[in-house]
Amino acid sequence: MPEDSPLLSILSLWGKTLNITVAYYHPPFHPETLKRDFEEIRASGATSIVYAIHEQEEQRWPRDFERVLLMARDAGLKVYLSLGRFGNLFAGPVFMPSWYTFQHPQSLVKDRHGRVHDMTCFNNEQFRSWLFKEIEYYVQNYPVHGILLDEPRAPDVTCFCSVCRALCPDITDLQHFRRRSMMEFLSELFTCVKHVNEQVQTSIVLLPHDLNLVDELTSIPSLDTIGCHLFWQLLETDVSMVEEWGHEVVEATRAAGKRSQLWLQNFNLSATDESQLEPAFSGLLSAEPDEVACYYYWRNNENPEQVWQQTRGLLRRIPRRQLFWQTGARIPVPVTQSLKAQFVKTSDVKNVEQDSEVL
Ligand SMILES: [Zn+2]
Repeated sequence: MPEDSPLLSILSLWGKTLNITVAYYHPPFHPETLKRDFEEIRASGATSIVYAIHEQEEQRWPRDFERVLLMARDAGLKVYLSLGRFGNLFAGPVFMPSWYTFQHPQSLVKDRHGRVHDMTCFNNEQFRSWLFKEIEYYVQNYPVHGILLDEPRAPDVTCFCSVCRALCPDITDLQHFRRRSMMEFLSELFTCVKHVNEQVQTSIVLLPHDLNLVDELTSIPSLDTIGCHLFWQLLETDVSMVEEWGHEVVEATRAAGKRSQLWLQNFNLSATDESQLEPAFSGLLSAEPDEVACYYYWRNNENPEQVWQQTRGLLRRIPRRQLFWQTGARIPVPVTQSLKAQFVKTSDVKNVEQDSEVL
């Protein structure tokens, strides 16, 4: 078998704890649809979902929101809540600007020319106080397993707002100050989560061009997981970059005792791009992350059904025994030589799945 065989990658993961997370960004209003979807996600081997909440949504449909969380829990899925576009500082599935930022124009980031940018400055005390209260509210009132920050906007603009100027009178240091401020802001946010409930997990997911933040992020004690969106197609790079980015994240997080989460791009794919799902997944697995993540029927695929079915097939290649690590009822069985041989002989990994399911 060649050194770079995907099967070797899969074998190397055997016996490790590997969680699967699926982002579920669908409307919450049809309970039967939720039930069907969550069962399908659970059957794919996932143990958790990412669900996004945008400002004001909870105020408008608290019953639906709670139902989503409870139904996910009933299906055996933990829920990581993503703060969609709060303050325009994070990504979110709905392209809807932050209501807070719209209502508080004085909180906007301001550049050296006095021009305002479309995001609230994270040094703004009023904003921080509002945001932390929101987080406290969600963690205290709803069954969420974790809080996730999706693609936080890195400090690409040096802020000259009155708050930043007051906090950093040395104008020549403003750029470094902005980066330090971002880390302090994130640290305070994750500490806020842990303060409300120390069991609640904290995650951040970066785009590859923000991986230069990883080392600083690993120094935040209240941050549990660092992820990366390995979106090779969206970023117009070769699929081989998936492995490179993946290794970078896994090495940095492992050295710091944090967990890693690598995301498969199973959206925005043309029929031609679909053929790259398999090498992307193999590259991702070869980095040996703690968690694999992807999307449930997410946007703009040429063949939505085919992409999800292919994604399911890839997820099912992860040996089933790992998927039940948390039950504690099953006795771990080491991989035998005959099972290994079977793995190598067959090109259809499903055989091993079926065997290991009954272990
Ligand atoms: Zn500022």
